[in-house]
Amino acid sequence: MQAKIDAFMEEVRARNAHEPEFLQAVQEVAETVIPYIATKEIYNGKNILLRMVEPERAIMFRVPWVDDKGEIHVNRGYRIQMNSAIGPYKGGLRFHPSVNLSILKFLAFEQVFKNSLTTLPMGGGKGGSDFDPKGKSDDEIMRFCHSFMSELYRHIGPNTDIPAGDIGVGGREIGFLFGMYRKMRNEFTGVLTGKGITWGGSLIRPEATGYGTVYFAENMLETKGDSFDGKVVVISGSGNVAQYAAEKSMQEGAKVVTLSDSSGYVYDKDGIDADKLAFVMELKNERRGRISEYVNKYPSAEFHKGKTPWEVKCDIALPCATQNELNGDDAKTLVANGCICVSEGANMPSTHEAIAVFHKAKIFFAPGKASNAGGVATSGLEMTQNSLRYKWTREEVDEKLRQIMKEIHSACLEYGTDNDGYVDYVRGANIAGFVKVADAMIAQGVI
Ligand code: NDP
Repeated sequence: MQAKIDAFMEEVRARNAHEPEFLQAVQEVAETVIPYIATKEIYNGKNILLRMVEPERAIMFRVPWVDDKGEIHVNRGYRIQMNSAIGPYKGGLRFHPSVNLSILKFLAFEQVFKNSLTTLPMGGGKGGSDFDPKGKSDDEIMRFCHSFMSELYRHIGPNTDIPAGDIGVGGREIGFLFGMYRKMRNEFTGVLTGKGITWGGSLIRPEATGYGTVYFAENMLETKGDSFDGKVVVISGSGNVAQYAAEKSMQEGAKVVTLSDSSGYVYDKDGIDADKLAFVMELKNERRGRISEYVNKYPSAEFHKGKTPWEVKCDIALPCATQNELNGDDAKTLVANGCICVSEGANMPSTHEAIAVFHKAKIFFAPGKASNAGGVATSGLEMTQNSLRYKWTREEVDEKLRQIMKEIHSACLEYGTDNDGYVDYVRGANIAGFVKVADAMIAQGVI
């Protein structure tokens, strides 16, 4: 079996040699899905995984924009339309200087499996730009978003491809992007999700990824009769996903002791309560400040510059910042300190080595494609409401989100339970996500 996996990876590596993040994501899937394919006659001779690792379409374009001083800048825009076998492409836009083809292809590839897991009819895509929103004025952000959409609009649509937010793209950016799309097309459609509540957005969409990450962790803990109540939770990041993962953890009775950004992490031994979280939301979302400012306001907390929070003793860890932010050594520290559950809010935050450590220790580990799927699932619910020209209440959307997370968890159990009862959620998520897309591709022929 290993020889088959190695031969497959060799072929993928030859074609995508300079794309380490993409190769990492493919490897993780190949290791669990290829042994499964080998046991199913229906996939025999179909080269299905090889077809799935090649994007249906990859679009790259120039994004010129003018700053407040009148200087002209040029960034690169992308949209990877990975797979539309089960529905229109769906996936976020990321604005961050690290954005390149490898990172977007890894995200688009993961998105295909994640969207399949949500039970909703959505294909996978991802896009963005190497534009850095940090330190830019609102006007500069608007000009950039308008320029970006003045090209992207040709390639997307409510039945073709429906982008959403991701790192660096929140409600403000979605507004500017939507405005330009509406102008270029002269139509008001649900072409983006994460929209404002008064113009087509869904209640609970901002909260959904963070809440869903906690719901998924609760589902895992429940299998052993456990819960969040009284647990110490360590969270990385302080953006959209981290904020709402913190909020829900608190609501479920846990004590959240860390948040972070790319400069370091804050440790608050007394716990981050609702007031302190409101301060963080205002700091990060309105003032666009740094997490280190938390200790100016709450001097009993500590700021650890340049470090990640995995050295803090905890019961539950929720990585909610970015890819590869938790390595093998971090995983060993978490396990040694008694951590029993890791639920990924970010995409691929744990390295291959870290996942191996969690599996060896037989603690609960949920890969992002399962545990953070609540965001895109609620985007799917936003699309449904847009199509119906209707609006569900907060409680209705939250209930649907909880139900979807439960179903994703059950799908993982179906394909990921080992003989000794331990659940390999990576295998479970990969196979459950694969089956639906692969079966649709087979039904539709070689296209
Ligand atoms: P935000 O832009 O709101 O926040 C990102 C957070 O991560 C910030 O605190 C940021 O710190 C930190 N961060 C970014 N890059 C790095 C880095 N290289 N090292 C350390 N910290 C970093 O993004 P989101 O909260 O929306 O996204 C976070 C993660 O969740 C991403 O992996 C994203 O793909 C994933 N995700 C998001 C979904 C959503 O609905 N938003 C859905 C599913 C997954 P700083 O301010 O210093 O950059």
